[in-house]
Amino acid sequence: MGEGDKILTILTPEYGKIQAIAKGARSYKSKFRSGCQLFSFTSFEFSKRKDWLSVTYAEPVETFYDMRRSIESISLAAYFCDVLCEVATDAQDAADVLRLALNTLFMLTKNDEYGKIKAVFELRLMTEIGFRPAIDACAVCGSEKDICFFSVYEGTVLCKNCIEEKNILKGTLLAMKHIISNPQGKIFSFRASSDVFFELGSICENYLLTQIGRGFRSLGYYHEISSN
Ligand SMILES: [Zn+2]
Repeated sequence: MGEGDKILTILTPEYGKIQAIAKGARSYKSKFRSGCQLFSFTSFEFSKRKDWLSVTYAEPVETFYDMRRSIESISLAAYFCDVLCEVATDAQDAADVLRLALNTLFMLTKNDEYGKIKAVFELRLMTEIGFRPAIDACAVCGSEKDICFFSVYEGTVLCKNCIEEKNILKGTLLAMKHIISNPQGKIFSFRASSDVFFELGSICENYLLTQIGRGFRSLGYYHEISSN
């Protein structure tokens, strides 16, 4: 690859994660420049060159420009993309995951409830990729009452008759049900107390990191600069 070229990692609805070369995309004069920016939602065309796809057309549909107003939103967007890059596979339908990514980036351009946006993304992403936690009933006795414990390892809940420890508020459980069960267009619309948001943030992050089994430098950076 030349110095002016870019190797792009692209999340597509039909083919999952793909890689492509964008010839000359670093140049200010390149017609691909805008469409090949980080975080861009772009309409692409490719040609196949040996084992590589080469970009022949790149028209940005949405660049999420307003996200760049704060370092918190940029660092969160970087974390979201790192996670997506880790969990997305090739040759797999990723329409729901892509829709979640786009909705989440759009939220970052609109408001600064970063803790909420992050928690919703984390939990819904896990749900979309097959790690939907089973939180409707106790994993031991099946009771739907007095749920008081969530296991980030098992993705299950326990009731107060089955465990003495308590680590989840009722409000947090309700927020998690909202995020998991609703159509994607509604998942960011809910209210909760600051205690619930604090706990939700910690549970959703721990659940994602535990299930994926690795950490992210971009997440560490977000925590360093975050004022929330
Ligand atoms: Zn129980």
